[in-house]
Amino acid sequence: MGEVNYAPIIQEMTWSYSRIKAFDDCHYRWYLQYIRRLHGKDMFFASYGSFMHKLIELYYKEDKSAKQLCEMYLRDFRSQVVGWAPSKTVFGNYFKSGLQYLKGIQPFPYNMVAIEKRVDFNLSGIPFIGYIDFLGEKDGDLYVVDNKSRNLKPRSTRSNPTKSDLELDDYLKQLYLYSAAVEQEYGKLPKSLCFNCFRTPVFIEEPFKEQAYAESKQWLFNKVEEITRETDFLPSVEYFKCTYLCEMRDFCDYYRLAQKKR
Ligand code: SF4
Repeated sequence: MGEVNYAPIIQEMTWSYSRIKAFDDCHYRWYLQYIRRLHGKDMFFASYGSFMHKLIELYYKEDKSAKQLCEMYLRDFRSQVVGWAPSKTVFGNYFKSGLQYLKGIQPFPYNMVAIEKRVDFNLSGIPFIGYIDFLGEKDGDLYVVDNKSRNLKPRSTRSNPTKSDLELDDYLKQLYLYSAAVEQEYGKLPKSLCFNCFRTPVFIEEPFKEQAYAESKQWLFNKVEEITRETDFLPSVEYFKCTYLCEMRDFCDYYRLAQKKR
């Protein structure tokens, strides 16, 4: 694959956070998905996340009650959440925690400005697209909220960042990038960036920091450059990731080979 230069295709792309993260997960997956444009299969974790996002959106957009959301959850779970969970226990935990959250769902502590807001913008010449789950306002300040099935932890008070702090910083990059769109449309940056980790449930509110904002924009710039230069698109085979997270799995010869050797 190394002798083919895909830069002309890549330079025409519109970017998103998930497009960049897919490259970090596995270069070959990225190649299959965005160069070959293959349509992968729906996976358990991704379809669970989408289903919960949809229900939370209905709570705000259509004023659905907790009871109505729970009914929809129970009625549609099997049809909407597809693919295989790694175990019955994981399936059960996800199922229970989603239902538990919807039973006790409470509005975010902000006035709603927008929900599932599509943002289509340009960052230093890089076309970028995304969806802000919830944009809120309080006392004239703006707040970006992202619904997460991942159980992130609030920032520790340690002087050296913990592994969880670094994970939080990593996830915050997406919201910092969306902040550029907020600034372009509303003329000001958000006051805080928030994660609604609905499975725990934990609500994390992180104050907006100029330095992290600048670093996130630089990160995007570097990543797009790195992907544009890439020619090898080597696989990164790891059992859990390939089996339960990668929607390109069925097209991947490396995965097939690894399965035969197991
Ligand atoms: S199955 Fe694994 S190696 Fe193959 S594309 Fe997906 S993540 Fe990469």
